[in-house]
Amino acid sequence: MTSEFIHLHVHTQYSLLDGAIRIDALLNRAKDFSMDAVAITDHGTMFGSVEFYEKALKVGIKPIIGCECYLAPRRLTDKTAADGKGLSHLVLLAENQEGYRNLCQLASVAQLKGFYYKPRIDKELLKQHSKGLVALSACLHGEIPRLIQAGKTDQADEAAHFYLNVFGENSFFLEIQENGLEVQKTVNQALLEMSRRLSIPLVATNDCHYLDKEDVRAHEVLLCIQTGKTMNDPDRFRFGTDQLYFKPKEVMLADFKNYPEATDNTGVIAGRCEIEFDFKTYHFPKFDADSELTADDIFDQKVREGYAKRLTEIKAKHPDIDEKAYQDRLEYEISIIKDMGFPGYFLIVADFIQYAKENNVPVGPGRGCVWPDSKVLLANGKEIRIQDIEIGDSVITHSGNILPVQNKMAYDCDEEIVQIDVANGVLSLTQDHKIWAIQSKTCTVNHHKTSSVVCKPACNRHCSEKPFEDYQLQWVKAGQLKKNDFVVFPRIASENKDIIFDLADFVEQKEHIRCDENHLWYEIGTNHLETKKIPRVVCFDQDCAKLLGYYIAEGWSRLGEQECAVGFGFHKEETEYAKEVQQLLKTVFNLES
Ligand SMILES: [Zn+2]
Ligand SMILES: [Zn+2]
Ligand SMILES: [Zn+2]
Repeated sequence: MTSEFIHLHVHTQYSLLDGAIRIDALLNRAKDFSMDAVAITDHGTMFGSVEFYEKALKVGIKPIIGCECYLAPRRLTDKTAADGKGLSHLVLLAENQEGYRNLCQLASVAQLKGFYYKPRIDKELLKQHSKGLVALSACLHGEIPRLIQAGKTDQADEAAHFYLNVFGENSFFLEIQENGLEVQKTVNQALLEMSRRLSIPLVATNDCHYLDKEDVRAHEVLLCIQTGKTMNDPDRFRFGTDQLYFKPKEVMLADFKNYPEATDNTGVIAGRCEIEFDFKTYHFPKFDADSELTADDIFDQKVREGYAKRLTEIKAKHPDIDEKAYQDRLEYEISIIKDMGFPGYFLIVADFIQYAKENNVPVGPGRGCVWPDSKVLLANGKEIRIQDIEIGDSVITHSGNILPVQNKMAYDCDEEIVQIDVANGVLSLTQDHKIWAIQSKTCTVNHHKTSSVVCKPACNRHCSEKPFEDYQLQWVKAGQLKKNDFVVFPRIASENKDIIFDLADFVEQKEHIRCDENHLWYEIGTNHLETKKIPRVVCFDQDCAKLLGYYIAEGWSRLGEQECAVGFGFHKEETEYAKEVQQLLKTVFNLES
């Protein structure tokens, strides 16, 4: 390492709602400052590792991957208010691959088991995953600085011994920081004394939370968002310093001029940390065979069983096939899959597909086709032929959701086609196209059995078996449907929405028709005689429906040059009807008659 100072304690944006440093900007800044390595130590997470690693290598900076862990005061499973209060910080850096794996383990367990406001680890877990890690005692929230601040020097020494034992003599450092906080003076002095007393090396860091000094306000806003406070709140959580920025090495060297060992050690640690991510090897999950056989053996066995079954089916249809061609292909495929190391992957996929099939969960890429002129229900209630559908059209799914069409596929099909006769037409589909259906059962009442009467829930015959109680909506392959099965059809549920007619859409657009925003009328003859105005917008309600009913049954209309009229013809004894029509004309169109 050529740089005299390397930042080993840095929070990026992946320290959620706390770190305000973007990875690209961080790397550019490190380059500007001629620092040839930089670490990221986000709070409790490794979210940024891969992005940071890849980007750092691209710009020629050595990535040091770390994490500032939250350490639970007792076990990570203890989750009381006191456990929340007693939380301390610990910075861990991956020195090698083993260390990186341990760090991932710690971060995962912290999220999965130790989460209590923060992802937490504990000392027991730390003991199991300490190899390959360099530990720093962290900020004022570290266990040792906290004990020092509480005046508990003996306990602070005890804690230091614990970390020394766990990480080893050269892999635990007392971290000193200089952020202009009064209390840091006392803590740093105590750490210096402890360093001499217990022979633990010092290391200087700046606990960077933002890139530039000017970003402190933006960072405080971030903290307000994290804690649900406003900037005007006098009690809001804040760091009380504007010194948590990514300082140039000159500033760091000046800040720690009394501790040259501490700044030198940043380079020493950075030089020791060497990890390499392997993006080329496939990391398939291991198949848990629960048997003496290897995954390769089980795979081999299953493939051959399946092959024998298929071959019997094929030979039943085509007795003269060239069996050797099939056999050769089988051996070829098996060998390739084994060479690639894929058997475990195939077995795992086979396992969950098998489960899905046994439990009626639809599987596969949705194989199955319908005839080009099959109807599809669009979200607007219109039906169109599937061949006319466009990508982006909104269709209604079997569950009533509205989804956009994402893709369109069409191909020539030489398979057997199933035709399903349903109430409103015939569906033509391939055998394996799944249909949302209920497979019906036969009525169990004696004299019905022979004639295969289908059992329906609405039936009121006395029967004890009630086969319909087992009816279940499920995906059934079209080829497996039989007569009397129930097929589900989508329809638009009636909506409680007003239907409004704009009458301007209905009248013939002749020259003597006039309309404005609210009314419709005629202008007749050369002297522009206006008829009575009727409302242009009419709500299709009960009255309107009734009036239309009368009109369809008894009405007439005439549109002439000099005169327009609508009339109803009733028998002289039907005065009640006539009166009602008069009333309806008044309520619907505001017309006297
Ligand atoms: Zn922080
Ligand atoms: Zn901290
Ligand atoms: Zn920190």
